[in-house]
Amino acid sequence: MANSIQAIRGMNDILPNESYLWLFVENTIKNILHSYGYQEIRLPILEKTELFKRTIGEATDIVEKEMYTFLDRNQESLTLRPEGTAGCVRAGIEHGLLYNQIQKLWYMGPYFRYERPQKGRYRQFYQCGAEVFGIATPDIDAELILMSARILETLGLKSHVELQLNSLGSIESRQSYRKQLVAYFSDHQNQLDEDSQRRLTTNPLRILDSKNPSMQTLISAAPKLLDHLDSESNDHFLKLQTYLKNAGLTFTINSRLVRGLDYYTKTVFEWVTTDLGAQGTVCAGGRYDGLVEQLGGKQTPALGFAIGIERLILLTQQFLTNIPVKEADIYFMTDSETTFQTGLKFAEELRQNIPHLQILQNCGGGSLKNQFKKADKSGARFALIIGEQEFSTQSVAVKSLRETTPQEIISWSQLTSYFKEKFKPSP
Ligand code: ATP
Ligand code: MG
Repeated sequence: MANSIQAIRGMNDILPNESYLWLFVENTIKNILHSYGYQEIRLPILEKTELFKRTIGEATDIVEKEMYTFLDRNQESLTLRPEGTAGCVRAGIEHGLLYNQIQKLWYMGPYFRYERPQKGRYRQFYQCGAEVFGIATPDIDAELILMSARILETLGLKSHVELQLNSLGSIESRQSYRKQLVAYFSDHQNQLDEDSQRRLTTNPLRILDSKNPSMQTLISAAPKLLDHLDSESNDHFLKLQTYLKNAGLTFTINSRLVRGLDYYTKTVFEWVTTDLGAQGTVCAGGRYDGLVEQLGGKQTPALGFAIGIERLILLTQQFLTNIPVKEADIYFMTDSETTFQTGLKFAEELRQNIPHLQILQNCGGGSLKNQFKKADKSGARFALIIGEQEFSTQSVAVKSLRETTPQEIISWSQLTSYFKEKFKPSP
């Protein structure tokens, strides 16, 4: 026998025993996004490498070491998308969706990063992103964050996550802060680890993000970005906090929250949990007022977030108790060629008339005893049987598989009305 081929490390198959939970989580999120007036945008999985280099930033983890980049047959450098904002902005500019208008968009799908696979961190992973274009005021920052809170709340996860907020200020104020930070860390260069040495010249703000325990004292004493905000960003940040407090949302200010991508300005936020080990961030986002212009569009204020679906799934598996499982409603069995053909006809009639039912028709033959076993296993509420006797009286035997009620005999003409009544949606 030939060797079997296995999946690529860090790229998971989502099997039927988990996919129903994915569907439930994804549908919950989509419904909430629609209820806030967001519209779906579907984007390619491959983009030109240049797009990510220009938006995410050369000195970020993603661009430095996480991208899946290759030359296509035409020698063009392409990259499997590591995140969604860059492609969304690219498409928005390309199709004239952004200038002088308000857009509220969402997307969901696979993303790719060459990372060390572990729980909550994979090489193909799924994100749901939401982006708003055309609103500069902090009211929309508040609404976007409240929407992310509602998603977590609806999935029953709100009490297991914490909202952290920070402001990165304008690009100008960040640049002047960057100078102070470089001066500070240069004065203590002997205490910097290897990563931070490198970041000192490439991306000094990211030093604040370091998880290395031996760097923590140095980092805590570093100048704080929040003390160096320009007055407009400061005002924006204070208003946002007021809005969130008034809406009853609690948060903590984390002055070290800098986010891994270069394009953020003003508001940044993360929903974090302590229940997933080192992979603690389930949703992250912020404002990126300069990005559209940086990619060749007209100046457009913008903001958004991305939710990591796997991390949400891991949390729901831990904490959500009443996940709705869709099981079969009817298992339809017959015991001969003739009765099968009759059964097929009535199964179709029921599917036509009561579309929300899940009807499993027995295929592949087998004795009625054997079919009953399969019916039990399917979780169906009712078994429908057409044997020789039912066939001769133009009827169907209906046996409840969950209750001990006696078997009933229903005539063919009554079948639809009988099951309409049985599966009437509860008021
Ligand atoms: P982390 O600090 O965990 O590496 P990040 O800052 O790189 O996260 P973002 O680029 O902000 O992550 O992506 C948004 C969200 O997508 C994250 O908060 C997380 O939930 C999820 N995510 C990011 N990378 C991965 C991955 N490799 N596997 C699974 N989920 C991921
Ligand atoms: Mg990362």
